[in-house]
Amino acid sequence: MAPQKPLKLPLAVAKVDRAARLRTDKAYLKSIWPTSNVMIFVNERFSTEQNQLLFTPGGLLGSYQSATDYFLGLKDDQTFFVRHLAEDIQSEYELKTLREIGTFLSPRDIGLAVHAQGLANWHQKHPMCSQCGGPTVVISAGAVRKCLADNSEHYPRTDGAIIVLVKDETDRILLGRQKVWPKNRFSTFAGFVEPGESFENCVIREVEEEAGVKLTQINYLGSQPWPFPASLMIAFEAVTNTPELARPDGEEIEEIRWFSKSDMKQAILNNSLILPLEISVARQMIQAWYGDGADTDLKGNESWR
Ligand SMILES: [Zn+2]
Repeated sequence: MAPQKPLKLPLAVAKVDRAARLRTDKAYLKSIWPTSNVMIFVNERFSTEQNQLLFTPGGLLGSYQSATDYFLGLKDDQTFFVRHLAEDIQSEYELKTLREIGTFLSPRDIGLAVHAQGLANWHQKHPMCSQCGGPTVVISAGAVRKCLADNSEHYPRTDGAIIVLVKDETDRILLGRQKVWPKNRFSTFAGFVEPGESFENCVIREVEEEAGVKLTQINYLGSQPWPFPASLMIAFEAVTNTPELARPDGEEIEEIRWFSKSDMKQAILNNSLILPLEISVARQMIQAWYGDGADTDLKGNESWR
């Protein structure tokens, strides 16, 4: 199997200096706040204008609030924050999700958005200390939480998940449909890395569990953040020489299908296949496998879940 070209991964294009050294400099953070670019984030949604992130100068939003204003970094002499609000403020801003605006954003703004969303999701779900159950507070400009009772520090979580494009020796690919997805919505296989497991072993286990086939070759393709809510997707392609063993596990995966390129073109044309969104690793792996014509032939049917 010839290794595939590096994937174009839409959410992995960050161009921002995270400037971690500045997170603990409170005087600096206060001084740059009034002229900083601040995006608002509330319940998975960003402040937007015409499908772009809407930044407001900090000075127009009142003073810097260390509990809700997280420092995202620097780019071209500009500084960036996200203000994380728990309350719905939809009357003031046009709020949109990353899956709605992801394909319209510049590399700079993609990097800011995935950082902001991953951070905000973590803060929202981890208000208490995991050691003593007491309340924690935000420190280091949003990069850390600290327990008020035992002083322990808590860092944002990123959950490793593998995603794999399974091929056979005739260059067909195997896609699966989860029970919870709509009819005809298929994607590549994916799963969380378990404690003590390597990425490669996770790939082998997940594919065997969900689709019944054993893999013979595994190649790494790339990675991209997937902050829905806190994953990092690690992408592989793999080959099986026992395609006839493929069967759905019946629990997570209800249906599986092998596709040649012409099968896929036909399935899109007759509306019997719905693919994942273009910002996803799965879609980019399928497009890279399909090759010439993917941009036009695979357009149309797509769905988030
Ligand atoms: Zn504690």
